[in-house]
Amino acid sequence: MKRHTFRLLAWLRRTLAAEWQGPPDLPRALTMEWRLVTVRWVGIISVGPALLVMHLPQDRLLFAYSILAFATAYNVATRWYMQRRPDLFASGYITTAADSILNTAMVLVGGGFDSPFSYILFTVTISVGMRYGYGPALAMTLFFTATDALESLVTDYSFGASFAFRSGFLMITGLLAAYLRSLTDSAEVALQDRLVELQRLYSDLAMAHQELLSLDEAKTNFLANVSHELRTPLTSIRAFSEILLNYQDDEATQREFLEIITTESDRLTRLVNDVLDVTKIESGQMDWRDDTIDLSALLEQCARTFAPLFEQAGLIFRNQVKPNLPPIMGDHDRLQQVIQNLLNNALKFTSDGTITLRGVVDADEVLIAVSDTGVGIEERDHERVFDKFQQVGDTLTGKPKGTGLGLTICRDIIAHHGGTLTLESQPGTGSTFTVRLPIAQTHSAPLELAA
Ligand code: ADP
Repeated sequence: MKRHTFRLLAWLRRTLAAEWQGPPDLPRALTMEWRLVTVRWVGIISVGPALLVMHLPQDRLLFAYSILAFATAYNVATRWYMQRRPDLFASGYITTAADSILNTAMVLVGGGFDSPFSYILFTVTISVGMRYGYGPALAMTLFFTATDALESLVTDYSFGASFAFRSGFLMITGLLAAYLRSLTDSAEVALQDRLVELQRLYSDLAMAHQELLSLDEAKTNFLANVSHELRTPLTSIRAFSEILLNYQDDEATQREFLEIITTESDRLTRLVNDVLDVTKIESGQMDWRDDTIDLSALLEQCARTFAPLFEQAGLIFRNQVKPNLPPIMGDHDRLQQVIQNLLNNALKFTSDGTITLRGVVDADEVLIAVSDTGVGIEERDHERVFDKFQQVGDTLTGKPKGTGLGLTICRDIIAHHGGTLTLESQPGTGSTFTVRLPIAQTHSAPLELAA
């Protein structure tokens, strides 16, 4: 028995709470309107029996119950339509009109505007002002005042002090309630703005966090790669040194092993230098020696260095560097390092055909291109070759191994100069690496560049 009562009470509490909250898809602006339905039910339920003990004359009692019936129908209709046609309630004038009629009727049946029943007018005016603002609040006070005046006219033509006070205070009350409403509205707008701002800040923060995470991951990967790359030459140096210790008599073998050790040591040095370059550039600690550079001279010098190497490898070398290229601002040695690296790659990855070095002016840039007719690079690897430690394609060609950092360094150096390094290549046909560098502003038309 007791358990049933408990269950019933719990169910009642849940139902009442759900009724007070309203359906989940109800527009937020209608929350107060929805709760007012519940408040009206409380009023209807308590006034119903109360009327019986008020000793009203028969006809007034009948009139009072008709009003109650109207209120019930109105409440049911409001509850029904609020869920299906919320737009009807947006302006508030429909409920204002119904509430005005209902409450005026109640006041009239309770003894007229001069009776204590008229207090209820203040309550509904406040509730309408708070819900819908100035318009409906004013409309309601005007309606009450008009019916109040009409009642005076019909009964005894007397507009006493009580009428004046009632109307005046009703108007003030309505305006105050609507003012409170406007205050909450603007507070809500301000809050909404802050919320949007906060959300934006939060997403910025989340993005920055994500960037930091991926930077951290890149750092870890880089360290792992460096250690891995260092271990390979170190292992062979160590292995061959150990064997050497046991081959003290055989001079030919000793020589061969010492050569291997020297090659591997060179590779180790190159690797360490490359790693140092990358970390210095990318951490902003590189010591750039920027100056005005004569690019034609720089490219000619590179061509002179490589021409014999290409010849030795049986390759045709075409030097298409234009004389008197416009000057460039930059670090001479670093730019030379880039061109040498590209020429060296062309040499490494081309077994026969032609290597071309171009240097021309293209609009407000100098364009330097190194083309080869070598193995070429698959489309999907075009971006990857610029990543750290990426060596792509056929690794069985027996070409001298690089560090996989060369192109990363090249791109970083060119980026420092405000330029770009791009690649066009097809497997089997060859590759072209193109450097574009902005022409030094002081020597070209500065106004034109600024525009
Ligand atoms: P590496 O020191 O290994 O040459 P790079 O960063 O200079 O490192 O080059 C990365 C990879 O890009 C090379 O291992 C090679 O697979 C590819 N690559 C670079 N230049 C050429 C080229 N001219 N022709 C074909 N492949 C190339």
